Amino acid sequence: MRTTPAALAVVLLLATGCSGDGSEPDDSDGGRPAGGSPTAAPQPADPAAAAADLDAARSTPVEDSVYPDAGDPGVDALHYDLELAWSPTRRRLDGTATITLRATTDAPRLQLDLGPSLKPRSVTLDGADVPFSHPGKDLVVDAPVTGDQQYELVVTYRGEPAPVPAPTRRADFSVTGMTVTDAGELWTMQEPFGAYTWYPVNDQPADKALYDFTITTDAPFTGVANGELVESVTDKGRTTTRWHLDTPASSYLTTMAVGDYQHSADTTSSGLTIDYWYPRGLPEALPLLRKAPHAVDWVEERLGPYPFSTLGLVVTDAVSAMETQTMVTLGTGDYVLSEPVIMHEIAHQWYGDIVSPSDWRDVWLNEGMTMYLQAGYEADLAGVPVAEELADYAGACRASLPGDGPPGAYNAAGFGASNIYYCPALMWDELRKRVGEDEFWAVARSWLDDNAGTSAGREQLYDHWERATGLELSSFFDSWIMGRTMPEPTAG
Ligand SMILES: [Zn+2]
Repeated sequence: MRTTPAALAVVLLLATGCSGDGSEPDDSDGGRPAGGSPTAAPQPADPAAAAADLDAARSTPVEDSVYPDAGDPGVDALHYDLELAWSPTRRRLDGTATITLRATTDAPRLQLDLGPSLKPRSVTLDGADVPFSHPGKDLVVDAPVTGDQQYELVVTYRGEPAPVPAPTRRADFSVTGMTVTDAGELWTMQEPFGAYTWYPVNDQPADKALYDFTITTDAPFTGVANGELVESVTDKGRTTTRWHLDTPASSYLTTMAVGDYQHSADTTSSGLTIDYWYPRGLPEALPLLRKAPHAVDWVEERLGPYPFSTLGLVVTDAVSAMETQTMVTLGTGDYVLSEPVIMHEIAHQWYGDIVSPSDWRDVWLNEGMTMYLQAGYEADLAGVPVAEELADYAGACRASLPGDGPPGAYNAAGFGASNIYYCPALMWDELRKRVGEDEFWAVARSWLDDNAGTSAGREQLYDHWERATGLELSSFFDSWIMGRTMPEPTAG
């Protein structure tokens, strides 16, 4: 997730002295990816391969312990094929969502989340019209389902997207979901929920799924989403882009942005292409975006190869930033569009995206390691020991705990407070001191290798570290994650 306002204040004080890989950006293609001519269809042609892909998206959905109203553990979504048409002038989203799902249990009906500003027009289940209702944000499909059977649910809907209140007290966001700008651009950030403001979804992070997006809008606007851009066509004043995400994602990590975008790209030292999408009227964004290759190189040294097949950054009108999977969503504020924040959201591709929390009580799994990495990165940029950065973290952790609660049992109305960032970042530093630099990063990395593509909880993490190190660590973890006061950091 977004860095905290306190972290952003720290960011402001730092010089941004590192450069990208030095290659010239390729912006000669008028907003299309380098070599981005239409390519093959994203779906595997081989049905067996398609089935294997869907198997990778099988999840163990849960009712969230912090936000139980979002999502339904009776649904295991496997694949969302979203056809989305956005009219910037009429401010209307027309959507057809084809959702391949597995019922997890016998039930008289299915339920998904769909924002109240979007009106469902038709629902079919395996090709047959079925009755439905839409009370509040719930889309209730009145058709019986059998446990462990697979279904294809098609929902057509339309409306003007509107964000919904976010359960937070943060200064940099009060609503969550899809936002429409005065100019008719779109962007979305949706943590801990709010994907349902733009498509029908099982909006809880334990249910990862594969995605395809087809976005049509009025040129010169272009639609951007997660994954690989497999086609971009402009015809009769309308631009259609198709995006394919080949690794399962939690719904809060999906993104859609529409605007008049310029495209550019760089390559990391390990050969990963990073695509940049930034407003045509904001060329000054590009030099900052070009810090991304250095950030990827830096994280790869610690956590191993970048875990996905594509990476992009899209700049929107937001005032925050979000680690949306394979396509980081950035705002335009000075401290959001900055090297440490770009690095933070890229680091989440490892901690948060390839392995995600299965329940929002464990959002600290994402933010603790990412803030710890950010401290090291900022220390490198500033040429100071990481301990200097962490001294500020200790103050922020101590200040947050009394009002915000322990990182692992935070106040549900105060999502994203400092407690889930700074306290677990310090915890990781304590563990590094205890096991040594090499073992620390080896185990931090094997956690990702062992759980790639899944959602996981704290118990799994504790077991992993205890198995890997041979240490009894449950009281150590508990003191940092469930304590109401911060443990004293040790020297060294
Ligand atoms: Zn974050």
